[in-house]
Amino acid sequence: MLTVTPSGIYCPAGDFYVDPKGSVKRALVTHAHSDHARPGHDSYLCSNPCLPLLELRLGKKAKIEGIPFGQKHKIGDALVSFHPAGHILGSAQVRVEVAGRVFVVSGDYKPDGDQTCEEFEPVKCHLFISECTFGLPVYRWKPEEYVLDRMNHWWSDNSSEGRPSLVFAYSLGKAQRVLAGLDPEIGPIFLHSAAYEFLEPYRQAGIVLPQAEKVEKAKPNDYSRSIIIAPPAVEESGWARTFTDCRKSFASGWMAIRGQRRRRNLDQGFVLSDHADWDGLIRSIAATEAESVRLTHGNGDALSRYLCEKGIDAGILDKTNLITMREARE
Ligand SMILES: [Zn+2]
Ligand SMILES: [Zn+2]
Repeated sequence: MLTVTPSGIYCPAGDFYVDPKGSVKRALVTHAHSDHARPGHDSYLCSNPCLPLLELRLGKKAKIEGIPFGQKHKIGDALVSFHPAGHILGSAQVRVEVAGRVFVVSGDYKPDGDQTCEEFEPVKCHLFISECTFGLPVYRWKPEEYVLDRMNHWWSDNSSEGRPSLVFAYSLGKAQRVLAGLDPEIGPIFLHSAAYEFLEPYRQAGIVLPQAEKVEKAKPNDYSRSIIIAPPAVEESGWARTFTDCRKSFASGWMAIRGQRRRRNLDQGFVLSDHADWDGLIRSIAATEAESVRLTHGNGDALSRYLCEKGIDAGILDKTNLITMREARE
């Protein structure tokens, strides 16, 4: 039904991979982040709202097909459908049904509110392959309204001192989510070009975003009352020096770790994640009613132990345990 190969999760019944590495014939892609949507495959299948983002990521030459959420699609002997993962716009969990057995590959997901993407949909299955990026009880998120309200206050304070506010946020998903929560009354909003290029597909998908401008190095600007959203990659580069006397912050789940903010020389940390927190993982996994759970993307030891105590056949996804599970159950 399902195996793990060096290229990634493979379904022999349908001869396809989910979020593969290397170069394969058919790739099903959960979402357009670069660690899931890699170039070099012969063909791609994704959710409809993911399609324009994937085109931006992979270029127009890539052979990409989109299907609506929930629509069943036959590939070989497998029945495949995409279901909202609530991670970023168009992000999907992949449901695969072979001979009456159902498995779901979660990709990245979050069950919490986010006005910039489709709401997470729990999908019932026998086997759930879950990410666990933040699979420790120390990770517990506050509602996004609370975090974004704090960010607006921070911006407003900086603005009244005539200091630009710089927010580091991943260019796809997080940057748009931050933008959607900003109060344009406070001042002008700017985005680094890497985040700016994704605004159009978001607006096309009907996501309401405040007016924002692209940072143009050649065009000097008075940034003293502005907020600027930029990818964390430019943090160490000279890029930020354009913004004289700026205050710096980072919007990420990693800001929940004590000392992170100081170590990175940030004035402020906003704990805002596009992944499920500890409670979110447990709640979402329970909602699938899966008898088996395999964890990937993160250290799954604590979560795996917790699930086993609840009587679920849980473990870390590796080459052997999926196959073992299959044999044990058939
Ligand atoms: Zn992702
Ligand atoms: Zn990921």
